[in-house]
Amino acid sequence: MVRLLLLLVFATQALYAQKSKKSKNTDNIILSNLQAHVGFLADDKLEGRRTGSPGEKLAYEYISNQFSQIGLTPRGDNGGYIQDFEVNEGRQINKTTRLLINNFVLVPEKDFFPFAFSANGTVEASPTIALAESGTIWFLDLKEMLEENKNNPHFDLSDAIRLKSNDVAGKGATGLIVYNSSAIADELKFEPKAKPEAAKIPVVYITNNMKKRFMKDESAVVNINMTVDIGDKKRTGHNVIGYIDNGATTTVILGAHYDHLGYGEDKNSLFTGPTPAIHNGADDNASGTAALIELGKLLKTTASKKNNYLFISFSGEELGLFGSKYFTEHPTIELSTANFMINLDMVGRLSDSTHGLSIGGYGTSPVWGELLKEKDDFFTIKFDSSGTGPSDHTSFYRKDIPVLFFFTGVHGDYHKPSDDADKINYSGELQVVKYIYNLIGAADGKGRLAFSKTREAQSSGKSSFRVTLGIMPDYTYSGGGVRVDGVSDGKLAQRVGIKAGDVVIQLGDHKIPDVQGYMETLGKFKKGDATKVKVKRGTEEVEYDIVF
Ligand SMILES: [Zn+2]
Repeated sequence: MVRLLLLLVFATQALYAQKSKKSKNTDNIILSNLQAHVGFLADDKLEGRRTGSPGEKLAYEYISNQFSQIGLTPRGDNGGYIQDFEVNEGRQINKTTRLLINNFVLVPEKDFFPFAFSANGTVEASPTIALAESGTIWFLDLKEMLEENKNNPHFDLSDAIRLKSNDVAGKGATGLIVYNSSAIADELKFEPKAKPEAAKIPVVYITNNMKKRFMKDESAVVNINMTVDIGDKKRTGHNVIGYIDNGATTTVILGAHYDHLGYGEDKNSLFTGPTPAIHNGADDNASGTAALIELGKLLKTTASKKNNYLFISFSGEELGLFGSKYFTEHPTIELSTANFMINLDMVGRLSDSTHGLSIGGYGTSPVWGELLKEKDDFFTIKFDSSGTGPSDHTSFYRKDIPVLFFFTGVHGDYHKPSDDADKINYSGELQVVKYIYNLIGAADGKGRLAFSKTREAQSSGKSSFRVTLGIMPDYTYSGGGVRVDGVSDGKLAQRVGIKAGDVVIQLGDHKIPDVQGYMETLGKFKKGDATKVKVKRGTEEVEYDIVF
């Protein structure tokens, strides 16, 4: 993620009085609760809380229990805390798939495999390989196709086989067995993610070894019994949802994903060891889950009653925000009443030396500028304006809901089995809980927060085309144009002489109305473009020639 805005802030709201004896007690209770939650969720017993696994179940039962003890009202489906959703992982070869040649059982995915586009069904026949007769199984040697297309970069072998299978089906073939007798590698395999148009008949591939073993004599009769059974590969994930109804017209949503990588089966681990290991995900994101539970406890008894509160523990996040996407498509509250959403993902590794806290989504409401610009005497806060990013707040931003994303930073144990509970900075996490609690209290009097669109978080694909001036916009400025809060060292703005306090009013032919307009205008340029930037400095207007 790109940090667009870098501000140091210096004070905290005093809602949560630091010094009283009572709050000290409360602190200690929260601290030991955070330890207990992370300790449970990041235990080996939960085997990394992979979506759809028995460990995920232990986790959601624990979280439901905690919600129930706090007194949150169940707000999942069917009157409970749980909301099920499906994660579709493409297609799989079901167990009934088999191929017998002369009563010899071939091993699936070793001796043979069905193509992902194959029709399902059972075919029994006694064909002769050299004859292609109607009503029986046909054979296809890929040799000719591969040799003819050796130098054709656009040749799609798999699709050519599919078309061929439909062709022979039209001539009476009831099934097709494909093999490759050539020296050219075909690299064919079962493709679970492929969604090609289905073939009309079952189509399987056998290795050339099997072909030679059973059909050396192409004029001999072979007995074939084949069943192709390809199905959808799905797992069920489970969101846990609890609610505090204050009878308000708006609801604040707090979320944190609790799923993690399991043993790394989904290929999202950064671990390179020789044997699979449990990824406990203490920071990612047992920490956020623990904080969510404790915020539930605090908000249950808070004086801030102008919002209702919805708490969601998401699953399926590590596979691609599945749980939060499902919730926003199938909300269990009227989504139009959502005031804002706060996401906690990895809040357990606060550095004791820098106290660095990253808050994303700063640009998703102008009110964040009012609520968050106040200085903080504990955290060094890095703001990122974008409403999107690699976690669940993105799903809510896409529904035009203001979001904030709390994160204490990446570390060397990220997505590795070493992300363990003993590395969590619990007193640092306590400070995050208190910060968010105070923020929610401060938002209590603000009514419904206005939503603003932000730029997209920079993603790898687009990044090489993006251009930037290297300024940090002041989001609180509303005087027309973009007031520069600071300039990045060595970047374009600094090199040409733009200074903090300048207001950018024009880029090329485009007048700049505000930060949003500035972002849109930047999007019209690409690297290498030469243009002019006009800034207002006091009463003076200054123009600079720039090359992006
Ligand atoms: Zn993660």
